[in-house]
Amino acid sequence: MSVNLQTPIDYLKGVGPNRADLLRSELGIHTYQDLINLFPNRYIDRTKYYKINQLQRNNAEVQVIGQITSFREVAQKRGKRLVAEFRDDTGLMELVWFRGQKWIRESLKTGQPYVIFGKTNWFNGKFSMPHPEIELLSEHEKNLRSAMQAIYPSTEKLSNKGITNRVVTKIMQQLFLETKGRYAETLSDTIRGELKLLSKSDALFNVHFPKSPELLSRAQFRLKFEELFYIQLQLILKNLIHKSKIKGFTFEKVGDYFNTFFKDYLPFDLTNAQKRVLKEIRADLGSNAQMNRLLQGDVGSGKTIVGFMSMLMGLDNGFQCCLMAPTEILSVQHYNGLLEWCNKLNISISLLTGSTKTSDRRIIHENLENGTLQILIGTHALLEDKVKFKNLGLAIIDEQHRFGVKQRSKLWHKNELPPNVLVMTATPIPRTLAMSVYGDLDISIIDELPAGRKPIKTVHRYDNNRLKVFRFMKDEIAKGRQIYVVYPLIQESEKMDYKDLMDGYESISREFPTPDYQISIVHGKMKAEDKDYEMQRFAEGKTNIMVATTVIEVGVNVPNASVMIIESAERFGLSQLHQLRGRVGRGAEQSYCILMTGHKLSNDSKTRLETMVRSSDGFEIAEVDLKLRGPGDIMGTQQSGVLNLRIADIVKDKDILERARYHAKSVLKLDPSLALPEHKMILNTYRQMSKYRNIWNYIS
Ligand code: ADP
Ligand code: MG
Repeated sequence: MSVNLQTPIDYLKGVGPNRADLLRSELGIHTYQDLINLFPNRYIDRTKYYKINQLQRNNAEVQVIGQITSFREVAQKRGKRLVAEFRDDTGLMELVWFRGQKWIRESLKTGQPYVIFGKTNWFNGKFSMPHPEIELLSEHEKNLRSAMQAIYPSTEKLSNKGITNRVVTKIMQQLFLETKGRYAETLSDTIRGELKLLSKSDALFNVHFPKSPELLSRAQFRLKFEELFYIQLQLILKNLIHKSKIKGFTFEKVGDYFNTFFKDYLPFDLTNAQKRVLKEIRADLGSNAQMNRLLQGDVGSGKTIVGFMSMLMGLDNGFQCCLMAPTEILSVQHYNGLLEWCNKLNISISLLTGSTKTSDRRIIHENLENGTLQILIGTHALLEDKVKFKNLGLAIIDEQHRFGVKQRSKLWHKNELPPNVLVMTATPIPRTLAMSVYGDLDISIIDELPAGRKPIKTVHRYDNNRLKVFRFMKDEIAKGRQIYVVYPLIQESEKMDYKDLMDGYESISREFPTPDYQISIVHGKMKAEDKDYEMQRFAEGKTNIMVATTVIEVGVNVPNASVMIIESAERFGLSQLHQLRGRVGRGAEQSYCILMTGHKLSNDSKTRLETMVRSSDGFEIAEVDLKLRGPGDIMGTQQSGVLNLRIADIVKDKDILERARYHAKSVLKLDPSLALPEHKMILNTYRQMSKYRNIWNYIS
């Protein structure tokens, strides 16, 4: 019989309908192919046997040969547990079952040699092993043992239904028997040769039944590489297709607006990183494919001016441009900042937010449609149906993670052709993750801060040091500086957070009384105009302290503010902390960030605080964040699906990912349609894979 890997798993000898149902529902295994791709979580040494007197109190998994000498039942709070005394010639330990006791009692016999396997606990002066894997020594000896026996992913239900690791291993053996261990190759000779990869068949065999540690690691490398290679291939192909199919507006020339600004009004020298990124954007805009670019740059790295100069390229070619920001405060700030430059260059610019008056709105709508308005800045209000551009050539989206994918694509449908899109984010996504998640976008990185910035001094202080902190604040205010005090605002506990904020505000008001001190407060429950009023007062230096919830997190720019105090800092995520800290250190003065917490801190909180104190590099912080939270929680990756990797680990295997990307690129560069005979297997694998795993729709 010829074996097809698409054969339903029910047909495999030893599986049958019941087990097949469980494998489907618990592990998503429907076919032979799915089973073969069930990769072990880890490996254990089953050639090694411990004596009871060799056991260590380290909770390790061990294998012991011995006999059960007696059973007893022990009553406990709920129900009872079954305890067996287990002896070898060196000592005594206990086996414990909390479930399935009847079956255990009936099937296990005293006085017979057994091999047990499991984790040991040290309990009441004895070692015990809860729910051991247990097997008669005579049975055990019939099986092949290896120093690296695979341990497969499992679920509670599977083990309760008797589908133990041993059973899965047997089924896997059967699969290799039936298929004779031969599997179609999926990578080209060139790639295999260059990377000295095992063949597909050898890799699969050794990942399930390793012949040696060396072969196991080569097998893992090959399979991880393959997995990442095909994901990258999909992403890069998507990007290529996008470029060839989706035409965009071409900004043919660099004209007067850009050149005049560059010559006469540039307020500072651009950093090399800013220049490089502008070149990358220029190249995109000059081509006839639609730009779809992500601009990553740490807080304060100067993304705004890059965005503005990109807009000038649009205006030079007769197009309109827009800049969308996630909050009213930010939009206003962008507007005010750009207005100054626009006035010098005689460019018409407007601001549109939720609080724009109807009469003003009407004028904006009109001027947009007749083309006299050149730049529109605003919030989500830009996405309303009534907002119609005459010829939107470039849409810039600031702080991208605040917008959903749907919202972004809405901007596209305002034109006959989609505008060029530049997404700016200050939440650096680690390169590795960006490659996987945004591999189909082009990425530019500003990895350099403007010269002359003093690093922000960051410290961690406990709540009982508050008086010292107050004294420090007074000293700084006496020097003419301004201070942010930020409280967490987390939706689930909004009421409590609000109370904390108000309590904090009161105690600060007592400590810093008028008329010597002026305090602003901004929080989510305030009306937009009141928030603006307070922000404005602070920005103009009329108040000394800004007490706020995280509404000031993104983008706000008050260069004279040099101290950031973050209350309950343990409750913030790393990227949020980093964002908040980025609000200071924008002027010439030494800036400080003080992280306030209670004494009780989880390990993760400690790591977050230590990372903040140690590092000011957004990319390094993002890497730590990724390690702490796992990729699934990082903004924008949830829906991507690319992270449901079978064998590779996006964090640990970033070197393999880079190689996979490199090779995927080389293959497509040589042969964009995968038409060469030597790429036939890649094309086939790719087609088959796309059928099962469509990652084409997850971004813009
Ligand atoms: P972000 O990348 O966080 O949006 P901004 O664009 O708001 O950063 O820039 C932060 C501050 O740095 C602004 O005050 C801006 O004018 C200033 N800035 C930007 N680029 C430079 C530069 N090359 N040299 C000096 N200052 C700069
Ligand atoms: Mg910004």
